[in-house]
Amino acid sequence: MDKIEIIKTDRGGLKIVFNDYMYTKQKNLSNNKIRWECVQKKKKCKSNITTDQSILNVLKNIEHENHLPSLAQVQATKAMLNMHTKAQNNFDTPSRVFAVETSNLSNEAMVLLTDEKSIK
Ligand SMILES: [Zn+2]
Repeated sequence: MDKIEIIKTDRGGLKIVFNDYMYTKQKNLSNNKIRWECVQKKKKCKSNITTDQSILNVLKNIEHENHLPSLAQVQATKAMLNMHTKAQNNFDTPSRVFAVETSNLSNEAMVLLTDEKSIK
């Protein structure tokens, strides 16, 4: 059974997690379909999937050839988005938000998260 999860990013973009692989919205296709590309495109992954407009049905799936799914990457992305949301809404001090959001992360996710922050 395929599982698909939709993640709204803080800039109004969309990501989806499909069978533990993460994708970013690439473009709307004609006939109400949406093309999503693998977040590891920079690392030469050519995988992409096509869904219908509801995003619930995957119509076409091009496999990833050079990497496994990264649950840590999904965790890191979600934690980062939660932090941004909370920071924007002033729920708490940044350091406390960081501590709460990262408390359940795996070491691998933590490394990715720190990487991602340093890139920005
Ligand atoms: Zn990929």
